[in-house]
Amino acid sequence: MDSLLEILENRVQRPAATVPVLMPVALDQTYDYLVPDGIEVAPGHFVLVPFGAQSRIGIVWDMPRGDAAPVDPKKLKPLTSRLDAPPLPAISLRFAEWVARYTLAPLGMVARRVMGAEPAFEPPKRRVGVRVVEGAPAPSRLSPARARALEIAADGLIRSKSELAQLSGCSTGVIDGLVAAGALVDVAIPPQPFARPRPDASVSSFTDDQARAVESLRGAVEADAYSVTLLDGVTGSGKTEVYFEAAAAALANGRQVLIMLPEIALTSQFLDRFHRRFGVRPVEWHSALTATERGRIWTGVARGEVRCVVGARSALFLPYPELGLIVVDEEHDPGFKQDDRVHYQARDMSVVRGNLGAFPVILASATPSIESHVNALTARYRAVSLPGRFSGVALPEVQAINMKVEPPDPGKWLSPRLVSAMAETLAAGQQSLLFLNRRGYAPLTLCRSCGHRFECPQCTAWLVEHRFKKRLNCHHCGFSLALPEKCPSCAAPGALVACGPGVERVAEEVSERFPEARVALLSSDLIPSLVEMRHMIRAIEGGEVDIIIGTQIVAKGHNFPGLALVGVVDGDLGLAHGADPRAAERTFQLLHQVTGRAGRTSFVGRGFVQTHLPEHPVMQAIVAGDREAFLNHEVRTRQKGMLPPYGRLAAIVVSARDKALAERTARMVLQHAPRSETISVLGPAEAPISIVRGRHRWRLLVKAPRESDLQAYLRAWAADIPKLKGDIRITLDIDPYSFL
Ligand code: ADP
Ligand code: ZN
Repeated sequence: MDSLLEILENRVQRPAATVPVLMPVALDQTYDYLVPDGIEVAPGHFVLVPFGAQSRIGIVWDMPRGDAAPVDPKKLKPLTSRLDAPPLPAISLRFAEWVARYTLAPLGMVARRVMGAEPAFEPPKRRVGVRVVEGAPAPSRLSPARARALEIAADGLIRSKSELAQLSGCSTGVIDGLVAAGALVDVAIPPQPFARPRPDASVSSFTDDQARAVESLRGAVEADAYSVTLLDGVTGSGKTEVYFEAAAAALANGRQVLIMLPEIALTSQFLDRFHRRFGVRPVEWHSALTATERGRIWTGVARGEVRCVVGARSALFLPYPELGLIVVDEEHDPGFKQDDRVHYQARDMSVVRGNLGAFPVILASATPSIESHVNALTARYRAVSLPGRFSGVALPEVQAINMKVEPPDPGKWLSPRLVSAMAETLAAGQQSLLFLNRRGYAPLTLCRSCGHRFECPQCTAWLVEHRFKKRLNCHHCGFSLALPEKCPSCAAPGALVACGPGVERVAEEVSERFPEARVALLSSDLIPSLVEMRHMIRAIEGGEVDIIIGTQIVAKGHNFPGLALVGVVDGDLGLAHGADPRAAERTFQLLHQVTGRAGRTSFVGRGFVQTHLPEHPVMQAIVAGDREAFLNHEVRTRQKGMLPPYGRLAAIVVSARDKALAERTARMVLQHAPRSETISVLGPAEAPISIVRGRHRWRLLVKAPRESDLQAYLRAWAADIPKLKGDIRITLDIDPYSFL
């Protein structure tokens, strides 16, 4: 923190007509620009400035940052112009600084997240549409397509050309022709205002447990101060209904609200429920939006026109001037961690945002993260729990199937017990779901004749067969190869065999075993768009499918009323990552969530978990339905190992195309580690996935006690490392979630 004196000195030394500007690039400093006469700027304004040889958009900051050598005022360049975009609220500047300081990412890169939507900085595009010209004579050449378009346009409404073309089943050329002929006219489409959610659009009634939870959450909102509440309740207990009331209270108090969901859980079901509760659809923010939509929403949020956003993790960086509540649903979900450029955990950063903005944060989950669980235990967070399902239906009974004792038939993946349970379910007219967290047909292909294995040429990874697409794909770099007919090594024809199952192969087995069943296969690589995905989910909800087979996109967020049985094809899959301290936690969460999909509303469901490790604490807890036992076991493990949240971790990955250079650099980096009594550095070790996209990777892991200043240690370390030359990349990940 700069001292007040330094701040004042800085102010005094700078001529009044310059401002510090932050550029959205990988730099941690601002640059001074002269402010030309007639332009007025204030902190948070977006400005166009000459930057190197380019003209780029930057943000006027309120304080110079970084240690760039002072520039001779005579050499300063003037900024070009101030943009029309609404300025960033001051709190967005403070939040960006906080995130940069914590993640050790350059402030400019965090600013880039905050800018989020380039089109917000362009003058709004005037959208034009067409309308019929009243009383105009019909064009002389009236083709059937033209006639249809005029018939539809006869209602006098303004439509975009493409919409009218689509409605009348013709090309936009036909519409252009009608404009040229004077039958239609171009008109501006007025911008659609954002519909305001109405806190009192509907009234819910609550069970006693729910009512207590609602009271507590409303209390947090009314207190109008920073707090964090862990809303812990089994799936189907009504967490969503309950936190909607907190959102309603915040909206009624004139505050903006953010509800964050793991991206994949942005389901139409959720949007429908929001609509029912608040009378409008919420504004959504996720990666499937077009650039124009992003720009419109960004601007709407900054102007306070958007009152509630339902979004994925990047929604946290929108420029809310009046944010008064954040809800993080499925707070345990690893999807809240971003592992690219700015390595941030959106759940943790939403707690920071609440603290800066002095408002409450609600974390909701049926399987809280160990971090949040411990924070609730130690009363750093408030705890609110919903013990039972709203429907009163008991949680499913879960059985483990020991695959060593009850193996599947050769070349098959489903054990006899699971198959007969599926047959019963099908006969009863109910739905089954098979879960396998592995895309494609088979994770490994080899040649029966010479033993050749198909490996990615750029990564240490087997190529995964995708039979529907007839390709072999690398899941790390996107490398792809058409499935060959003969072995590239020994040229033996027809000798390639697929080893192990992916969802496509399980779907094949299901179709063979249950030819009469209607089967749906849900895997992100097979579903072209969010719209399509929502379509499939609707079909499943509507009972149009008997057996669902899916990767983790089926595990979260959905509520399938007819689902009676869940089978986990390989319950051990997530436990294999030895170095990951959260492997057990994550496996427990996933198995609990996916088996919890069965029998949620009117009957008790059944769950089966195929495993080779039935004695593992995760399997024991899943079968016993004993979440507390698992949490206690896991808390003790973390405590003993000084792992999060009892200790802090940072991962450093050094990579280079040259193997020796990567290793040498990693060792050199280690040598510069500051000595410390309490902070230790493990490694360097070759990463489990040692080559990705042709880059050799070495890892270092920094372990620190909870109360230590890990960032200060890492900053001192980084400052001591000599400038790197050549093709070396070093990434730093505070609180890492990936250990591969
Ligand atoms: P969770 O978020 O804990 O999984 P949900 O909020 O999705 O639970 O509730 C599960 C189901 O029960 C939903 O279909 C929801 O509409 C219904 N439900 C929960 N509480 C109520 C309530 N108080 N009144 C009406 N329906 C409710
Ligand atoms: Zn690859």
